[in-house]
Amino acid sequence: MQTEMRRIVLARRPEGAPTAEDFRLETVAMPVPGPGEVLVRILYLSLDPYMRGRMNDAKSYAEPVAVGAPMGGGCVARVEVSNAPDFAPGDIVTGMMGWASHWVADAEGLQTLDPDAAPISTALGVLGMPGLTAWVGLNEYGRPKEGETLVVSAATGAVGSVVGQLGRIYGLRVVGVAGGAEKCAYAVDTLGFDACVDHRAAADARALRQALSAACPAGVDIYYENVGGKTLEAVLPLMNVGGRVPVCGMIAWYNSGGPIAAVSQGSDLLPKLWRTILVNRLSVNGFIIFDHFHRYPEFAKEVGGYLRDGKLSYREDVAEGLESAPDAFMAMLKGGNFGKQLVKVSEPG
Ligand code: NDP
Repeated sequence: MQTEMRRIVLARRPEGAPTAEDFRLETVAMPVPGPGEVLVRILYLSLDPYMRGRMNDAKSYAEPVAVGAPMGGGCVARVEVSNAPDFAPGDIVTGMMGWASHWVADAEGLQTLDPDAAPISTALGVLGMPGLTAWVGLNEYGRPKEGETLVVSAATGAVGSVVGQLGRIYGLRVVGVAGGAEKCAYAVDTLGFDACVDHRAAADARALRQALSAACPAGVDIYYENVGGKTLEAVLPLMNVGGRVPVCGMIAWYNSGGPIAAVSQGSDLLPKLWRTILVNRLSVNGFIIFDHFHRYPEFAKEVGGYLRDGKLSYREDVAEGLESAPDAFMAMLKGGNFGKQLVKVSEPG
């Protein structure tokens, strides 16, 4: 039995985009599980954009990571030692853990996975929190109707790729916004979107709007918002009366202090946004997926069925080894990932 484990801690709070110095790889003594706890070996770690917010000492829907504490994250892991009746060594489980080789987890926060039902990594992507986010946001707040036009940003990512494919299944015209020609081609050729616009090729919001306008001849009924920034500015004038905007994320602003900071730096987005919401009677709904976990069984039944029937595809971007997590995370915040960003921490066997 190993006596030490590795983990990545927050070394200091980033200013702007995170850098390698904001993280530290540590080797510490292997923890011992108490009653009702299990010791697991982590197989896959999920890297998610929300983790950037946790690195700030700011009020949000979740507590920030303390400086010196391990970065948290969703994981798939193998039980090594169990002090909980429902888990045995060898079980594959998923739950909130952290950037580490091993973890002591409260058994109450874990779910067992059946490795024969689906690849275990999908519990962190298409069949996990990002997939659920896509399904809840589109259905609950997008309220899609056949024949409508849906625009989704970060279109080839973990959330956006599911949003767009569900939109096609529900009979909508789906237009993605993604970074680069390769991602746009994938959105159309593999995910089945009607069109995809490259936001990196557009010099500014006006150019992006022109490209989007051509792809959305009947305007936009649903804008599934994942990014904010230039993309939001481009989509706004195209929204139809009665349009819906599920506000899921705003990754373009995660390193720069958010929309209020953008306004204080001279952006006139806020008055434009407010006016469009009023004049076009838009329903703009922010949502946090933690409030919707109880809907998981309903989601898994529907989306799991599409996966089994080959109606929905997914893509994973897997970095190798725990030590690759900071680089993969920093790249993801700049669009370096192509599909759900995971880190393979160890082999299941
Ligand atoms: P992705 O797999 O989509 O990865 C992030 C992507 O964001 C990048 O690949 C990049 O794609 C895009 N991006 C980065 N910077 C910019 C920018 N400046 N402008 C436009 N696009 C940018 O991540 P997820 O699918 O996991 O998450 C997508 C969004 O959903 C995030 O904002 C996240 O915070 C949010 N989210 C919210 C949840 C909630 O509960 N509300 C739950 C889960 C996720 P590209 O190369 O195409 O630009």
